[in-house]
Amino acid sequence: MSEERTTVAISGGGPAGIMLGLLLARQGVEVTVLEKHADFLRDFRGDTVHPMTLDILDELGLIDEFDRLVRGRMRAVRFATTDGELVHQDLRAVAPRGARFAEIALAPQWDLLNLLVRKAEEYPGFRIVMEAETTGVLRDHAGRVRGLRYRLGGEEHLLHAVLSVAADGRHSALRDEIGTGVVELGSPIDVLWFRIDRREDEPTELRGTIGRGGGIVAINRGDYWQVAFLVRKGTDAEIQAAGLPAFRERVGSVAPWMRDRLDQLRSWDDVKLLSVTVERLRQWAVPGLLAIGDAAHTMSPMGGVGVNLAVSDAVATANLLGPDLLRAQRDPDRFAKVLNPAILDRVQRRRQLPTTLTQRVQVLGQDQVIRFTESPEGRPLLPPAPVLALLRGPVSRMIPRVFVYGIRPERVAR
Ligand SMILES: Cc1cc2nc3c(=O)[nH]c(=O)nc-3n(C[C@H](O)[C@H](O)[C@H](O)COP(=O)(O)OP(=O)(O)OC[C@H]3O[C@@H](n4cnc5c(N)ncnc54)[C@H](O)[C@@H]3O)c2cc1C
Repeated sequence: MSEERTTVAISGGGPAGIMLGLLLARQGVEVTVLEKHADFLRDFRGDTVHPMTLDILDELGLIDEFDRLVRGRMRAVRFATTDGELVHQDLRAVAPRGARFAEIALAPQWDLLNLLVRKAEEYPGFRIVMEAETTGVLRDHAGRVRGLRYRLGGEEHLLHAVLSVAADGRHSALRDEIGTGVVELGSPIDVLWFRIDRREDEPTELRGTIGRGGGIVAINRGDYWQVAFLVRKGTDAEIQAAGLPAFRERVGSVAPWMRDRLDQLRSWDDVKLLSVTVERLRQWAVPGLLAIGDAAHTMSPMGGVGVNLAVSDAVATANLLGPDLLRAQRDPDRFAKVLNPAILDRVQRRRQLPTTLTQRVQVLGQDQVIRFTESPEGRPLLPPAPVLALLRGPVSRMIPRVFVYGIRPERVAR
């Protein structure tokens, strides 16, 4: 067993953990990020980088490099049903005054994470350990968290730290160490996730439609579409029992443009079920341990906002805690005893409102989508004219303000 020391130990190398590591290292704070996988190449990662995050990348001087990773750009938010358009909102028209970006950039998340790691490694205080799985916390005699335990290459390691951060996503084992329970908002949807070839002449934008039987979101990943097919929660066994040909037919009826390729789904191994949950911790911190990103609040894929909120949490954390952490680096005991419990709650106070409001809108949106997908045959999918006017008017303007520009967007303080 080895023992090491750092100032901040971060569990999880997702958008929240890597961005926090970069920002703290940039301020001179020593950080170690533990990531259980060997790389960032995973299919289920979100790819939508919204203006609230583009601004942050710009502030960090990374926007030109990021631009080279972008595979598609969305300049409007559009929700369509198989019977016609519900919402179509040009982003420029609802951008807050002075907004620099009016597009959602589609870039594979592993490319974004690799870029952030490269930048972070320019700072001497940054360290990332891949294939390092957090297994628990270290506590002092008073029960305060003073670091993390992790497993690497079959061996146990102890990482002593002034502050430990749970940024290890919605299945974070560290949630139990905070121990105050979650507020569950429920979710009526699950996602069936698969790949289909993409032709070069096809649109680069994200393609989404809701139809009877499911909702579809296809994300451009260069030579293939990463497809999310939204269905009612708990119906996957029923869908499998009906057989793959019936599933292909169901997908094709919502997205006829991919019908000619659906034979690429050869077995159920090609279709993965991703369970959707929307929930948040009642309390994000206990002395010595703070949760951010999905570990603090699991987001639905609705609106493609989870990555962006995770990054915003990281920026808020670095802004609010960075200066104290720098002081703590010089005198860890004083920090742990005097400052630490008092300041960690600032992060939740700052980020609770955007999280709660975004989750509420996601839940409303999910309920609506599932209602459309279950519309009886013969009834038009588009709602009556007054509701449609509301959707195309105020709702159209509100959606991008919440999901794209963000409620209380964060700026890198220094
Ligand atoms: C089907 C689906 C589609 C989605 N699509 C989008 C989208 O298009 N756009 C969007 O913005 N959001 C999307 N989201 C939401 C988004 O994925 C999350 O909100 C976001 O990834 C949260 O970032 P995070 O850094 O908090 O956690 P994560 O991205 O979950 O990262 C956590 C990291 O911690 C690591 N880890 C876990 N346990 C341990 C451990 N014990 N030790 C060490 N490391 C560990 C994991 O390997 C991972 O790298 C989607 C969600 C789902 C379910």
